[in-house]
Amino acid sequence: MYSLIDPPHEPLAPWLAARGLPAFRRRQVRRWVFQRRADSFAAMTDLPTPLREELAAAFRVLSSRIARHEQAGDGTEKLLLELADGERVECVLLRDDRGHRTACVSTQVGCGMGCVFCASGLSGLARNLSAGEIVEQWLHLQRRLPGDERLTHIVVMGMGEPLANLDALLPALAVASDVEGLGIGVRRITISTVGLPEGIRRLAKLPTPYQLAVSLHAPDDALRSRLVPAARTIGLRAVVEAADEYFARTGRQVTYEYVLVAGVNDRPEHAERLACLLQGRCVLVNLIALNPVPGLPYRGASPASVRQFQGVLERSGLPVQVRRRKGEGIRAACGQLRRDRRESEPPVAGSAATSELTAAPGAVPAYATPPSNAPAAVGEPPENAGSKLP
Ligand code: SF4
Repeated sequence: MYSLIDPPHEPLAPWLAARGLPAFRRRQVRRWVFQRRADSFAAMTDLPTPLREELAAAFRVLSSRIARHEQAGDGTEKLLLELADGERVECVLLRDDRGHRTACVSTQVGCGMGCVFCASGLSGLARNLSAGEIVEQWLHLQRRLPGDERLTHIVVMGMGEPLANLDALLPALAVASDVEGLGIGVRRITISTVGLPEGIRRLAKLPTPYQLAVSLHAPDDALRSRLVPAARTIGLRAVVEAADEYFARTGRQVTYEYVLVAGVNDRPEHAERLACLLQGRCVLVNLIALNPVPGLPYRGASPASVRQFQGVLERSGLPVQVRRRKGEGIRAACGQLRRDRRESEPPVAGSAATSELTAAPGAVPAYATPPSNAPAAVGEPPENAGSKLP
C-alpha cells in the first residue's frame, strides 16, 4: 500500500494514468486531503464509488497516526506521531490572539547535532523524515483546527536539523506554499538551523526565500563547542558569514536564536560578546530561557538574567525579542514527549488517527504528568522570525 502524500514523486498521478483515468482526479483527491481535511477515501464524495474503493485498497490517506495528544490551557497542542515504521516524532500547533495558527514540525527522528540541553539530541539521529512524513505533520495539525480556521504559519524547528534533510524538506515546503496544497506564503515559513553554512547557502539560492533563524546559543567558539558539539568544526564566523550571504541574496532579515542557560551563557559579558559578533548587521536576536529537560543538569536563565542580557544587547543597538511562553502544562520541550514514551510508557495499541482525533480537545491524558518547568520551549514564533525550539 502506498502513501498518498509523498512529494515530489507522488504516486497518485502515475497510478491514475496507468488506469486511463483523467488527471483531474488527482486534483480532486488533493483538494479533499489539503482543503477539506478528509481522513478517508470514503469521504471523497465527488469521486465515483468504485474509484474510492480502488484508492482505499491502494493508498493510505496518511501513513502516520497520532500516538499521543497533549493540550495546554493556552490552546497549544502537541502531537506525538507514530510513523509507518514505528518511529515517533513530535509536532506542535500554536495559537495566538492575532489569529495566527502556527505549525511547528520535525524534520528528523532524533537529531545528530547533540545540543547538550536538548531532549531531541539525547539519543542521536535515528533517520531523516521523508517529505511525505513532514507534510503529514501539517495535515494532522490542521485537523485540530475548526473548519473556519486554517494554518497560517509554519516553523521548522521541531526535532532534527532541517538543513541536514533539505532534500525532503524543500519538496514538503513546496506543498505547504502551493495554493493547491496548504497555501501558506513563503514569508510565513521559517526554517531554523543550528547553522550549517552549506545548507544556508543552498537556501539562499532558492527562488523561494524562506525566513531563516540561526541558533547561536553562544557568543564564541569555545562556549558554542560545549553547547552544540556538532558545531565544533564549523566556527561562528563561518555561520555568520553564511547568514550574511543569505540576507544579501534574499533581503530577508536573519533571526539569531539564543537559548539562555543559567550560569552557562547568560552573563552580561556573554551579551557583550554577542553584541560585538552581530554589530552592524540587520538582524533580530531572539532570546528564550531554556526549558529544562528532566535528567539534564541545565536550568533556564532567571527572568532577571534575561532582562539584563536583553538590556546589554539593546544598548548596543541590536533589536531583541524575548519569546513569550506558550504551552503551559504540557511537556513542550522539543523531543521530550518522544523521550517520555521511549523511557516510561508501554506501547500504545494501534488505533486510527481519526479515532484519537475525536478525543475531547483540551483533555490531557491521564498519563500526562507535566513537570512544572514545561512551558518555556513552545514559544510563540514571531511572524517574521523563528528559532530552534530546544
Ligand atoms: S536543539 Fe535542535 S539542533 Fe540541537 S539537538 Fe535539539 S533538535 Fe537538534
